[in-house]
Amino acid sequence: MPGGVTANIKFFSPHPLFMDGGEGAYLRDVDGNDYVDYMLSYGALMLGHGHPAIKETLYSQIENSGTWLFGTPHELEIQFANKMKQFFPGMDFLRYTNSGTEATLLALRLAESYTGKHKIAKFEGHYHGGYNKVLLSLDPDLAERGSSEEPNSVPSSKGINRSQVQETVVLPYNDNNAFEILKKHANEIGAVLIEPVQGGFIPAGSSFMSELRYLTEEYNIVLIFDEVKTGFRINLGGAQSYYGIQPDLTTLGKVIGGGFPLGVVGGKKEILMESSPIKEDSSEILKPRDVLFHSGTYNGHPLILAAGLKTIDILENELDNVLMKTDLLKSELELLFSEKGIPMQAIGIGSIFNVIISEERILNYRDYCEANFKMRKKIDYQLLYNGIYSKPLSRYSLSTRHGEKEIERTINAYEKVLTGL
Ligand code: PMP
Repeated sequence: MPGGVTANIKFFSPHPLFMDGGEGAYLRDVDGNDYVDYMLSYGALMLGHGHPAIKETLYSQIENSGTWLFGTPHELEIQFANKMKQFFPGMDFLRYTNSGTEATLLALRLAESYTGKHKIAKFEGHYHGGYNKVLLSLDPDLAERGSSEEPNSVPSSKGINRSQVQETVVLPYNDNNAFEILKKHANEIGAVLIEPVQGGFIPAGSSFMSELRYLTEEYNIVLIFDEVKTGFRINLGGAQSYYGIQPDLTTLGKVIGGGFPLGVVGGKKEILMESSPIKEDSSEILKPRDVLFHSGTYNGHPLILAAGLKTIDILENELDNVLMKTDLLKSELELLFSEKGIPMQAIGIGSIFNVIISEERILNYRDYCEANFKMRKKIDYQLLYNGIYSKPLSRYSLSTRHGEKEIERTINAYEKVLTGL
């Protein structure tokens, strides 16, 4: 495995930690040390590790159906879809995928097919998965990124060709210049893809969101909320219920699979119908080449949908408590840092936040770049020695299993680390 990892995001120097067990809010490494886990597999494990109700659900799903995969339509697909619609009322129709990456890929293809326009727009610093169209301007260098009024589209990976770079327009986040760029390219742009809370922790301003919704409607551009991080994590209805704005398409992932690979693309019926093998309101079967291609061996996997449904059931009762615990941790951390004379903001909404060592207002990627990462990195490595796990420099996510005991342990570890800085 190149670099010893199967996903580059899992690497950190000099080498990542190897884990071999977990329970509740804790992970255990191969040397037997335990850690309060704030990575939670990049936010996926909203119920923490090894939740007994999920184990039980998986066993009984196998027992009851005698298999774990049908390769045909099945009941859980409908139950899960109804659950999505309950919390995301704009999802007239939906389709399942196996990851967040596949979900945004499908959403963009739907938007391009529906509008007949083949450029897309994304925001600087926003992540949507690992393919050429969106692997642009995630973390561009100062020398390459261009002006904040009109950022350059800069590849964030090797192997992306120049023609691809020109097909994606990069917009500044939380910055009204984005609207001028959109108007300029409106005839070519079929979709705007946005993390409504950048990186899961920098919220968009509400007037910025309203203007984005207004303009995309005005110019026949499909507005896609990528809620892979925020869905069922900042609240049950995601950023769209927080802002009171309905996008045309929504992508979900992470939490909804209960720790297993699942993605959803849902939204307006007329856009999703691009992928229907039969004509609307008739039984006429379309030729495959006249239909937007969407397929996948594991789409709508019964075991995963069962685990996801159970996860959401539990969150309906327990999410408020997670949000309260997150607020408590954020305020205790801010108090501790201020006692130590270090300017720090615990930024985020819902059950995700980030520890940003800066006094300045953080509205987008460029503001974020100015924070003190050197000190943050020192703190993060020391926290690993003190039983607190997060990949250095990463955001924090909480689960239903993070309680007052874990928060106290975290604050004590921080106290020790900050004192020793
Ligand atoms: N979109 C967003 C907003 C994400 O945070 C991620 C994953 N971090 C993805 C898409 C891609 O999801 P996956 O890793 O499941 O492919």
